[in-house]
Amino acid sequence: MSTVRLSKYENIAVITIDNPPVNAISQAVRQGLVENIQQCETNDDIQVIIIHCAGRTFMAGADIKEFGKPPLEPHLPDVINIIEQSTKPIIAAVHGTALGGGFEVALGAQYRVFDKTAKVGLPEVNLGLLPGAGGTQRLPRLIGIEAALDIISSGKPITATKAQSLGIADAISDDDLLNDAINFAKTIIGNSLDERRLCNQSVDAVSENFLDQKRSEFAKRRRGFEAPQAIIDAMEAASTLSFKDGLKRERELFEKCRNSDQSEAQRHLFFAERTSLKIDDIDKTVPVRNIETVAVIGAGTMGAGIAICFADAGYKVLLLELRQAALDLGLKRIKENYEGSVQKGRLSEEITKARLNAISGTTNYNDLSNVDMVIEAAFEKMEVKESIFKEISRVTKDDCILATNTSFLDVNMIASFTKIPKNVLGLHFFSPANIMKLLEIVRCDKTAPDVLQTAMQITKKIGKVGVVSGVCHGFIGNRMYQAYQREAGLLIVEGATPTQVDKVIKEFGMPIGPFAVGDLTGLDIGCHMRAALDKSQYEEKAFTVHSKLVDQNRLGQKSNAGFYDYPNGPRKGDPSKLVENIIIETSKELGIIRRDITDQEIVERCIYAMVNEGARILEEGIAQRPSDIDVVYCNGYGFPRWRGGPMKYAQMIGFEKVVDAIDGYSKTVGPRWWKTSSWLKDQA
Ligand code: NAD
Repeated sequence: MSTVRLSKYENIAVITIDNPPVNAISQAVRQGLVENIQQCETNDDIQVIIIHCAGRTFMAGADIKEFGKPPLEPHLPDVINIIEQSTKPIIAAVHGTALGGGFEVALGAQYRVFDKTAKVGLPEVNLGLLPGAGGTQRLPRLIGIEAALDIISSGKPITATKAQSLGIADAISDDDLLNDAINFAKTIIGNSLDERRLCNQSVDAVSENFLDQKRSEFAKRRRGFEAPQAIIDAMEAASTLSFKDGLKRERELFEKCRNSDQSEAQRHLFFAERTSLKIDDIDKTVPVRNIETVAVIGAGTMGAGIAICFADAGYKVLLLELRQAALDLGLKRIKENYEGSVQKGRLSEEITKARLNAISGTTNYNDLSNVDMVIEAAFEKMEVKESIFKEISRVTKDDCILATNTSFLDVNMIASFTKIPKNVLGLHFFSPANIMKLLEIVRCDKTAPDVLQTAMQITKKIGKVGVVSGVCHGFIGNRMYQAYQREAGLLIVEGATPTQVDKVIKEFGMPIGPFAVGDLTGLDIGCHMRAALDKSQYEEKAFTVHSKLVDQNRLGQKSNAGFYDYPNGPRKGDPSKLVENIIIETSKELGIIRRDITDQEIVERCIYAMVNEGARILEEGIAQRPSDIDVVYCNGYGFPRWRGGPMKYAQMIGFEKVVDAIDGYSKTVGPRWWKTSSWLKDQA
């Protein structure tokens, strides 16, 4: 069957696009559209044309297979122009999700009829782009600059109901879209076409300052991202230039974004996030285990978040604490979290009630006898994990999956406490667990393939981005983060200040610098973690100041003082004279002569240290691919998406340059931590 075909219903032509699975706008689709429209134009019997798609969706967007290749004619903007200039009215009959180019095609049509479940959107901003086939010029002409900017800059799809209220959909079909579109077609025969062509419309004026306000708003809220600013430029063009010149401007802005490092980085992440759940050595057809009920051990910060996360995804959750008081506290925390969502209008009371009903509590391990999976989120101590895993291994079914949320502990050892180690793996959530996207799936030596496959499926079901990690101290994310914190800690005893390091790292694009993060999470947590390590495993000099602060009960925001002072609450930390003195005194004790440290050195030391550790993680086979590391960093640690993650950043800077810098620090800072990984050398 051909990709684009024509059928007739009396005087109405239906052009059907049939390019499974999502009707991507391939060259064949573009060509077919043009040919069929031309055929309809020359056929006097035809009075209205409907563009309709077979399968589950209207055209979902550009054809990924054509990405990065020289564009093939006819180009999409030209096809849309032909649709818009058609001498016979064209109706786009939209169902499923019409994103990007798909929505732009619908905007080229003179009328739009939507299935009631349809969604449309322009998600290009997520790839560091803007719509490049007239979307930025037609949409504001249809619904005004404000609403158009909202849709284009957020990249989020809108529903058919919203589309109708904005004036995007002319009619909504409740049942049979094609039939309803044909009936709609009969009502528009003879209407003037000129006023239906968006290219002929003018844009409603917005307040003078509106675009400037948006520029500064995006500079804060979408700090570092270029595409949202380019989208505002395109909106400005829509409001000040003719349609033709506006399209030209859109093209210039589109080309600039497409050729930018940011877009390359964001496109890299787009594919990386789709690849990370694939495990190279596991057969995809391995049957997964059926998971309906999940037990969570520990109802603290992480346990409560994990329970919410599973209840949100439709699982039954059983929360276990040793004492009733702790259980009550955890359940209260969960209830308050849901109530907050209701107050903010994010959830209905009804849904909240159902989710709360799905979560029950117990203090008795025997109640776990029928659960399908257990996730342990108790204290970070091997003795605690040992007693819990022995107990859950005793009470649960033989096919129950046993997971730990440990941040640093050896999951192979944890597995060894159980009767069936192949059922054990790590599921490392990030805080807050119900919000943060990342899930590190820690594969132990003995984890069974079906356990991993099941974990992958669950990851998708709970809406997370999953990355598989092997067992090592801190897995992928925290292990690299330790290298980053180590260099930050060394930099302050060598001569920088926490404020300087934090400022430079924030300018690099991280949401917050390493010392502000320490204050946020609590300096005591790192100290406890290091206390369990052998001194050979970390650089003591880098954390001497941290330990001194903890000794003085400066634990961070929770004690109103850490690296910074928080006289007015946690929102803003002020530099502390006392901390400055502690740092200077520490430098002296360590025999370090303080020196001026450049911003470039701060970025290189913190980021390249992380990159080098990432490279070692690849060498050791802990991560499957460099892009997985980027997924971890952009989804769990706030690494700027527009830089594509640490490994992509290194590639874009040039591996050779990174290796040279690391070799240099090996000489100046010392070779203990600055040994260039052979993986990096190979890349260079
Ligand atoms: P938390 O102190 O907030 O909560 C731990 C809970 O476990 C407490 O409510 C405690 O009463 C309970 N508990 C302790 N021993 C228990 C036992 N034997 N049986 C049942 N319940 C028990 O700690 P948290 O921050 O939620 O961390 C939990 C785990 O998650 C740790 O392994 C930690 O390393 C890991 N983790 C924490 C974070 C984070 O940001 N907090 C992030 C990722 C992973």
